[in-house]
Amino acid sequence: MARRPIIAGNWKMNNNKAQAKELTDGIMYGVSQLDAAKMPEVILAPTYTALWQVYDLIKNEPKLSLAAQNVNPNPSGAYTGEISLDMLEDFKVKYVIIGHSERRQMFGETDEFINEKALAILEKGLIPIICCGETLEQREQGVTDAHLKKQITLAFKGISAQDAKKSVIAYEPIWAIGTGKSCDAIEANRTIGEIRKVIKDLYDSSVSDEIRILYGGSVKPSTIVEQMAQPEIDGGLIGGASLKADSFLDLIKGAM
Ligand code: PGA
Repeated sequence: MARRPIIAGNWKMNNNKAQAKELTDGIMYGVSQLDAAKMPEVILAPTYTALWQVYDLIKNEPKLSLAAQNVNPNPSGAYTGEISLDMLEDFKVKYVIIGHSERRQMFGETDEFINEKALAILEKGLIPIICCGETLEQREQGVTDAHLKKQITLAFKGISAQDAKKSVIAYEPIWAIGTGKSCDAIEANRTIGEIRKVIKDLYDSSVSDEIRILYGGSVKPSTIVEQMAQPEIDGGLIGGASLKADSFLDLIKGAM
């Protein structure tokens, strides 16, 4: 079964109201010119404060879907500063990015907490984009594959095969994020193949053949075609290059 590619823009902590509108309008205009049948699935992940606005702008554009950059797994209550799945549902959010290395490293998120989020997201009928990735030190020590196996195994704990199939994984080597230094496409393909084997061992080949695994880390219009040509790479999770409509549209076209 052919896996439909994904191009997802992770805006991180960027774009105020005016900037979010300008970027969304630019993307909307660009995708209106593209053939829907050939397009990847295109996902925008604005900040919470821009979710309502982006939702409203794209709600009649089936070529675009919405993601949140994070969520709290608890249904409601005393969690100052957090956002629940119920709240995301109001904006027809389809995907939620979880386990991003910035959240793991700067905000102390653990594999267990990420697993809790994945379970809550799937329970609500939304789809987690589960990020994993190694540090430069881990790569140099040769423990990349073992580290990813651990992250993936813990993230998928208790997730049914049916839900695992729908889920999305983003392999994002930490040393490649925001550095301009993308992981070599052949090596990214190999690593993603290893992640797929972990999924096969946890479930079976019907799950590992269907689950989509993205590459993230300094993806640019100049790298996307080679990355998309790799059989294991099902698309990109893109930070910096998703913040300008022109470069994001070039990435979408590079995945067609
Ligand atoms: P980058 O970010 O494209 O700016 O490297 C990717 C990510 O962190 O998702």
